[in-house]
Amino acid sequence: MTGVVDTAIGETADAAAQRTMRALTLVADRKIELRDVPPPLPPAANEVQIAIKAIGLNHIDVWGWRGMAFAKRTLPLVVGVEAAGEIAAVGPGVSACKNGDRVVAYGALTCGACKACREGRDNLCENVASIMGFHIDGFARDLVNMPTRLVVPIPAGVSFRDAACAPVAFGTVQHMLFDNAKLEPGETILVQAGGSGIGTSAIKMAKAIGCTVITTVGDDAKAGQAKALGADHVINYRTERFEGVVRKLTGKKGVDVAFEHVGPDTFNGSLLCLKRGGRLVTCGSTSGQSITLNLFQLYLQQYRIFGSFGCSIRNIRESLAKMAAGLLPVIDTEVPLAAFERGLDRLESRQVFGKIIVMF
Ligand SMILES: [Zn+2]
Repeated sequence: MTGVVDTAIGETADAAAQRTMRALTLVADRKIELRDVPPPLPPAANEVQIAIKAIGLNHIDVWGWRGMAFAKRTLPLVVGVEAAGEIAAVGPGVSACKNGDRVVAYGALTCGACKACREGRDNLCENVASIMGFHIDGFARDLVNMPTRLVVPIPAGVSFRDAACAPVAFGTVQHMLFDNAKLEPGETILVQAGGSGIGTSAIKMAKAIGCTVITTVGDDAKAGQAKALGADHVINYRTERFEGVVRKLTGKKGVDVAFEHVGPDTFNGSLLCLKRGGRLVTCGSTSGQSITLNLFQLYLQQYRIFGSFGCSIRNIRESLAKMAAGLLPVIDTEVPLAAFERGLDRLESRQVFGKIIVMF
């Protein structure tokens, strides 16, 4: 009898050793491979195991893929910073969710205990360990274990594809516009690069509360698409100086809020577009890292500049609630798992209008 049990255990161990799952793995700068890797252990106490269904691509993926000298990380690294999936297993002591629940996850490993975390300002955590998909293994794999406190349920009626845009794209914009810039109904906003994933989200969120939206795009086809999203005025920045057009459109007053993520190419122009006391909020610098700032202009015009990175878990809930109410992300393309790099190429070339989603 003992011998039979031993054999059974032995077979189970062998079978487990042979079981693998897929993982998109960054092995060198600009080189991602679809690898077979061992699946995670069963979830520990207060953890859940998520079967990933969709990944949203963001510029942070492009930065990570190109390679960043200052980033503390070691390769190989599983990529993917925002995702949606379904709970496949729950660890001991988990009562907040169950197998089959549809969820997104907060991809920064915050401590959950510091003052910022306790106050729900997760992206200001004093002890944040890492960003998944950038510093440590991310979401682009079949199964991922996560602390239950970092998991947010997807409302009924919201697809995995759309929900995958909540943790970074929608969450970041929600945080920028409403927590930082405190955008109010009826105000005028300039949205730079309105065809990007976050640009399209910003246009829709600002229009949804009754703002006047001016946006910039790089070609005429995107101009038509931005109009169709509800933008009131679209400027092709390649053929017109946007600063002059914005002054004209606002009767020389300027806008209340400028939504920035382009960087040196547009930052000072965006400041010039603000009315006195206007707010500029930025979450990115795709065109470079440094600018020269006119300090006279900054204090005489009483500009307020907000740096914004990531969002809180509350912002993810708010984003998903907006999706459930019909404010959906703009999807540029869906690509299969094996075409992740093709998605990054497309994102890097800026030939996108909306989000690129990788489907599992
Ligand atoms: Zn913390």
